[in-house]
Amino acid sequence: MGSAVSSAAFSTRPGLLDGLDPEQLAAASAPRGPVCVLAGAGTGKTRTITHRIAHLIQSGHVAAGQVLAVTFTARAAGEMRARLRGLGVDGAQALTFHAAARRQLRYFWPRVVGDRLWDLLEGKLRLVAQAANRAGVATEAEVLRDLASEIEWAKATLVSPDDYPAVAARTQRDTPAPAAQVAEVYRNYEKIKNSAQVLDFDDLLLHTTAVLEEHGDVATEFRDRYRCFVVDEYQDVTPLQQRLLNAWLGGRDDLTVVGDANQTIYSFGGASPRPLLEFTRRFPEATVVRLERDYRSTPQVVSLANKVIGAARGRPAGSRLQLIGQRPDGPEPRFAEYDDEPAEAVAVAGRIRQLLDAGVPASQIAVLYRVNAQSEAYEQALSELDIPYLVRGGERFFARKEVRQAISALRVATSRPSGADVVEQVRTALAGVGLTEQPPPGGAAKERWDALLSLVELAEELAATVQDADLARYVAELEQRAAAQHPPTVEGVTLASLHAAKGLEWDAVFLVGLAEGTVPIQHADGDDSAIEEERRLFYVGVTRAREHLSLTWALSRNAGGRRHRRRSRFLYGLIPEDHPAARVARAQGKTFGGATARCRVCGGGLTATLEVKLGRCARCPSNVDEELLERLKSWRSDRSRELKVPPFVVFTDATLVAIAEQRPADDGALVSISGIGATKLERFGAEVLAVVRAAGRG
Ligand code: ATP
Ligand code: MG
Repeated sequence: MGSAVSSAAFSTRPGLLDGLDPEQLAAASAPRGPVCVLAGAGTGKTRTITHRIAHLIQSGHVAAGQVLAVTFTARAAGEMRARLRGLGVDGAQALTFHAAARRQLRYFWPRVVGDRLWDLLEGKLRLVAQAANRAGVATEAEVLRDLASEIEWAKATLVSPDDYPAVAARTQRDTPAPAAQVAEVYRNYEKIKNSAQVLDFDDLLLHTTAVLEEHGDVATEFRDRYRCFVVDEYQDVTPLQQRLLNAWLGGRDDLTVVGDANQTIYSFGGASPRPLLEFTRRFPEATVVRLERDYRSTPQVVSLANKVIGAARGRPAGSRLQLIGQRPDGPEPRFAEYDDEPAEAVAVAGRIRQLLDAGVPASQIAVLYRVNAQSEAYEQALSELDIPYLVRGGERFFARKEVRQAISALRVATSRPSGADVVEQVRTALAGVGLTEQPPPGGAAKERWDALLSLVELAEELAATVQDADLARYVAELEQRAAAQHPPTVEGVTLASLHAAKGLEWDAVFLVGLAEGTVPIQHADGDDSAIEEERRLFYVGVTRAREHLSLTWALSRNAGGRRHRRRSRFLYGLIPEDHPAARVARAQGKTFGGATARCRVCGGGLTATLEVKLGRCARCPSNVDEELLERLKSWRSDRSRELKVPPFVVFTDATLVAIAEQRPADDGALVSISGIGATKLERFGAEVLAVVRAAGRG
């Protein structure tokens, strides 16, 4: 497109872009072509792209129907649609990669394959079990789950069964069975699945890509239909999704991507932030924008978030920026330790009650946990206080009987002429399937009533945001949501996993179960990159909070159980020194040389001498500055030669490691390291501090 387009660039609805800061504006109003926004949590990436879409449409660059925006969770896609609607955009598609591919495949399949689209396989475990059986591989539930995730990883990273053993060897993958056997299970799985004529989730993407790559007529029709592509959360793109995106683009460059490498939380599934970080290599002429102002959270939350991600290491960490909080001050984040998980849940529910009483709406409160099994304790504790909640992974919403009945009743109602407005029509139709004026007292009946009421609320929302919305438009919206598995918001506290919370925000966030083994999850232990991914997941959790942030953990799983768990290593350096949880940990620590020893990382008491010297548990992660350690060792060997004493007489290895971890800046910090007393301080203090300073200068 040429100059005709750029002259139209200023014809956007007046005021549309007013709510953006200068950098956001630069990205939103960039002429057509590649745009990349690389920025931290809460800096307005999603806001920027929704404004960009609205701007491109309203200034005539593209028609709403030509825009395809994709993201990674159904809820985030729903959030995007809601924001677009708020900007007056109707008709642009905002979907997950899977929902988009499913829709396209359904459309093109009859032409290419000639039959009804194959059914979708909901869970693959049963087929994996058959495949494993045929390959003679053990079929315990745990092995099967691992095999299923391994197959998903291979498909997401475009690795075929034949290539699998070589790729697994090259990338040193921790395979659930010998690589040749995994390949055999994978091959069998594909065969069984194809002969049953079903597709798994990854097939939706694979087949859509193949159709576009191999059928010129389909590709031409598709590319005529869609002209503008936007990807949110681009840091979590898999090679398979990237390949589909390339097929959509077909060599064009109308692509806007936004992401934050420090929120990469799906690399275990094959995702990689590389395409985001290397976007300008692919599109050297791209408009690139970085955002640093955090509009979501109070400075108190932002400061905590900066500390969390400040401790990260590895490639994504290289791109991190310090966030600068823009909102007025709010309460300090709260930390609390409990004896057991039920006690933690009861306390969290109690605190939620207080927030509700203080006027925070239930839909503005979330409890976030690492694994879905944790939700149960919270469901129970919230029910006991009569607090409404909804468990995310609310995919089941559209499977509920009353919701299915409601949708058919609404469909029928569209064919009846009516003078009433859309909200009234919805109420009338739903009265027929059990929506009463007053809610039933509780239990399952109340849950059904809540589900129906949320459908009315959705109608109210639509009526408020879309001009002249009628019942047909409403039913279309419902069908779209059902296809995208995006339930309407029920007025209740959200219970969700950290993964499902990506891209979303709430006034009050409770991060629960922050104990070692859960955050980070047990199986990440011992693998640095897995630990870093867990840290990013924790960062995603922290940055969901606008104002109130609570971080809690329990020392035992069951009520009255042995209190042997430790708080998460990620809390190290976050809990204020004068906090009771910090004091408790100190009191539990073993006394050593008159001082109390506790782990710098997890806060647990230290017993072994080596651990006391290191100042952390042997199994807690080291943040040793390797270069400094080398310098310290070389200084020590010089000194030991001069003094004609063995090196350990100068300082033991453990003491050097502790120095290299803690990087003391002055005498005070130096003597607080175990193994350095007044004598050593006097003899070597100044030299050691000089070595530390020199290493700091690089
Ligand atoms: P995440 O990385 O978590 O997805 P994000 O970068 O996409 O975050 P948004 O969700 O777009 O951030 O924005 C965070 C919050 O800040 C939203 O409530 C948004 O409306 C608000 N916000 C963003 N930019 C501005 C701005 N310029 N002025 C006022 N509010 C803003
Ligand atoms: Mg976002």
